[in-house]
Amino acid sequence: MFRSAVRVCARPVLPLQQASRHFASATGPQFSWEDPLNTKSLLTEDEIAIAETAERYCQERLQPRVLEAYRNEDYDPKILEEMGELGLLGANLEGYGCAGASTVAAGLITRAVERVDSGYRSGMSVQSSLVMGGIHEHGTEEQKEKFLPELAKGKLLGAFGLTEPNHGSDPGSMETVAKPHPTKKGYYSLSGSKTWITNSPIADVLMVWAKLQETGKIRGFLVERKDCPPGTLETPAIKNKTALRASITGMIHLDGAPVPEANMFPHVEGLTGPFSCLNSARYGISMGVMGALEDSISRARTYALERRQFKGNPLAKYQLIQKKLADAVTDAAYGTVASIQVGRLKDEGNAVPEMISLVKRQNCDAALRNARILQEIFGGNATSDEYGIGRHVANLFVTQTYEGQSDIHSLILGRAITGVQAFV
Ligand SMILES: Cc1cc2nc3c(=O)[nH]c(=O)nc-3n(C[C@H](O)[C@H](O)[C@H](O)COP(=O)(O)OP(=O)(O)OC[C@H]3O[C@@H](n4cnc5c(N)ncnc54)[C@H](O)[C@@H]3O)c2cc1C
Repeated sequence: MFRSAVRVCARPVLPLQQASRHFASATGPQFSWEDPLNTKSLLTEDEIAIAETAERYCQERLQPRVLEAYRNEDYDPKILEEMGELGLLGANLEGYGCAGASTVAAGLITRAVERVDSGYRSGMSVQSSLVMGGIHEHGTEEQKEKFLPELAKGKLLGAFGLTEPNHGSDPGSMETVAKPHPTKKGYYSLSGSKTWITNSPIADVLMVWAKLQETGKIRGFLVERKDCPPGTLETPAIKNKTALRASITGMIHLDGAPVPEANMFPHVEGLTGPFSCLNSARYGISMGVMGALEDSISRARTYALERRQFKGNPLAKYQLIQKKLADAVTDAAYGTVASIQVGRLKDEGNAVPEMISLVKRQNCDAALRNARILQEIFGGNATSDEYGIGRHVANLFVTQTYEGQSDIHSLILGRAITGVQAFV
């Protein structure tokens, strides 16, 4: 059958180079380096409209601010309010002032934001996926009504405190503890330290995971800054970061911070609570980092077409340069398709956490690897922050590290493949 199909083809066989020229000049579908597998055709009209709104906001309002924000480690909290006005926060959540869009649509928002900067996306992901997503999934009706509408508007800012100075990849060993408050009836008293917490210095409500002293089980608490007397809650910023400088990161020090019983998640116990929040955020990261990679590709392509070396040829004429671009474009396309597939399965209720580990790990690793190689195209100019590529490379190291470092996701996948636990 295959042979006869070849025989009926009237077109003469062309050498490869000519054939590809022939293909490019034919009418009909054309290759687009910006979306080579036409992933747009996998999206609904609503998703395309949401992505366009997010892209427009990010390019018009965030792109002009990022260089100075990154240089000065100066995160403007008003950004979350601007995003809230456009309905970009907690966009895939139902009710409470949220848009009720699909998981893929929320992913497209993270991609648009991360096309500008992973730090801006981190601030948004913490607010949307970790804090709003966590309250939506585990909160009481009162907690949802009290916090979600203001978080959706970006008028209340959230942080998610899981990592501790001595326990990162192994949060089950956390030391932060919650016990009945010695003087305030109906309150818990929280003590302990969290570190590397995005948004903590500016957060009004901090979702803190702590072990309940009576049971030794991990529980989730909504700590409200306004209700903490001086000395019971400190959130110093961690300055002089080498990456994610356009976001704000800090610690959380709790010393007998009073939290009403009504602010504890009522049912979820153990690591299921924080891990279910992380699942949603990790999905967003898998799509977000594709935005950082796509921006790296676009910058490297433009540079390669403009920069001339040897007999006035543009760098883009050279095969080694083309291979770097081809590898990056391929990984961006594969990663985007994979994330869309996992998003669809998530909305159908058919996704499992290992799928999210797979796309989070693969897309973060591929984005970091490719951005690092594309950086070489800029030669010495890569060292100047004005070209933007060094910022993406530095940021992508963090995306590969937080919310489960890639090797930890390998262990999650390895356990699922072999049935054997390799963490300890
Ligand atoms: C800018 C930034 C923002 C962050 N924001 C937040 C936030 O908002 N909320 C929050 O809770 N956390 C946040 N984090 C923390 C982040 O999630 C942790 O840094 C991450 O989980 C890794 O933990 P760790 O740094 O303690 O590294 P470690 O756990 O000490 O790991 C160090 C290295 O050892 C490897 N390793 C560890 N255990 C094993 C093992 N069993 N087998 C093989 N290799 C292993 C890891 O893969 C890693 O490469 C943030 C971090 C950064 C840098």
